[in-house]
Amino acid sequence: MARIVMKFGGTSMAGMERIRNVAARVKHVVSQGNEVAVVVSAMAGETDRLVGFCREASALYDSAEYDVVVAAGEQITSGLLAMTLKAMGVDARSWLGWQLPIHTIESHAKARVESIETDALLTAMASGQVAVIPGFQGMMEDGRVSTLGRGGSDTSAVAVAAAIGADRCDIYTDVDGVYTTDPRIVARARKLDMVTYEEMLELASVGAKVLQTRSVGLAMKEGVRVQVLSSFDDPTQDDLPGTLIVSEEELEESKMERQLITGIAHDKNEAKIILTRVPDRPGAVASIFSPLAEASINVDMIIQNDSKDKEETDVTFTVPRADLARSVDLLESLKDQIGFYRIITDVEVAKISVVGVGMRSHAGVAATMFKTLADRGINIEAISTSEIKVSVLIDEDETELAVRVLHTAYGLDADAPAA
Ligand code: ASP
Ligand code: MG
Repeated sequence: MARIVMKFGGTSMAGMERIRNVAARVKHVVSQGNEVAVVVSAMAGETDRLVGFCREASALYDSAEYDVVVAAGEQITSGLLAMTLKAMGVDARSWLGWQLPIHTIESHAKARVESIETDALLTAMASGQVAVIPGFQGMMEDGRVSTLGRGGSDTSAVAVAAAIGADRCDIYTDVDGVYTTDPRIVARARKLDMVTYEEMLELASVGAKVLQTRSVGLAMKEGVRVQVLSSFDDPTQDDLPGTLIVSEEELEESKMERQLITGIAHDKNEAKIILTRVPDRPGAVASIFSPLAEASINVDMIIQNDSKDKEETDVTFTVPRADLARSVDLLESLKDQIGFYRIITDVEVAKISVVGVGMRSHAGVAATMFKTLADRGINIEAISTSEIKVSVLIDEDETELAVRVLHTAYGLDADAPAA
């Protein structure tokens, strides 16, 4: 017997037919003798609809009331799933965020889980009752409803799994796992059996959007084993082939044959900014990046060359595209203080990253990447690296080509095209 958290996303909960399919899966996992808690999202599109109502009600809506409204989507699906389970002969009840409660801190609409009271939950589960918990919602210190930020029900599921010491947190979604790259670009992308938390964080944050990034960070911190599965497979199959997200130790113990590189991600959400002729003196770079940080603009890649004459140098960096206009306005307003000559921007860029814990112990990963791109005439505009990732910035039009040739170069292509 195991204690398992099962989480179902919006597409899996969209409509009664799909909810019945979810219930059938839950029933099957219960019938295998497991203790089960289920965390659900609102039906696909529902949260957007509710957010729309808030905007219509008032442009400057109150964020505490916003939480009351948007948390409703998950309240509905949790009730419907509990009902459906009971109709199938499975004991179940819903536990709303404020009923457990799931204590949250910080601000409405972007709350963080602080702790979860589990006594009632564990008693119910031990008696064979399935606990159905709406994702995304919790309760503030003052007793009011809170929500965790968009996509937050993944984080709810991981937080519940950590609190009840679950053996695994199964995230059922509309893809059947984590792939070596975007299967829409590379037909020979392969599904990964296992990936480490660190790799998943890098893959998620650079564009492989399977899980909310925050939930992966929480799983890593709390040591929750997460599995990504498709909710559209046969619900009565015993072992669905998903992707397990685990620690590096567990991955090593599994002795799974691994490629040096685990995956290749692409991200078209960045924009490039070049500040020309920035004075080369202490404090110059701080005068650029401190104001951006204060404006909560997330700078990603940064390049600054040493200047030959120790007088001035260009500084290149990337920011989220959505923040480009704001960044430029801010920097223009500080032009005299920073002392640069000109701002050049480019939104037609893409960041391509190769990710893998294997590169910790191997040289030459970056060189292979540069050579592979050079052979195809793809120009590299910026580079950044971490212990397990090498990223380059290229022309947006060359994204697909770059991903494809790198996938082949690192030996990631499957033998036969993915079905
Ligand atoms: N329903 C919420 C959203 O769409 C939370 C979630 O589904 O993860 O953001
Ligand atoms: Mg989601």
